[in-house]
Amino acid sequence: MALQCAHCYKHFSIAKVTESRGKGLSVEVQCPHCAAWLGHNKSLALAKIAGFYGGVIAAATGYFVDGTATITTPLVILAVIVVGLSHIMDHLKMVEAPADDASVANK
Ligand SMILES: [Zn+2]
Repeated sequence: MALQCAHCYKHFSIAKVTESRGKGLSVEVQCPHCAAWLGHNKSLALAKIAGFYGGVIAAATGYFVDGTATITTPLVILAVIVVGLSHIMDHLKMVEAPADDASVANK
């Protein structure tokens, strides 16, 4: 999986990341090129998780409970859209600029 740095706009592999901090949704990684700290948008990550589980629950309800398919089918479609949109919009954002910002700007 390739990530793009929000500070220097270079692409890097998640395997190249040597520094990380935080846990779960608030995990932050350090760009191997410019040392800026990068994190995910937490509300988007929550929307993705809520959409995913909401879709799974709606699909299971529609499958196991008779007569609910007319309600659950649009919910499943909505959940797929929410997950898809939050995935597209989920970019890394800069949490903290690197200490040697000037040296990056001059390149
Ligand atoms: Zn960078």
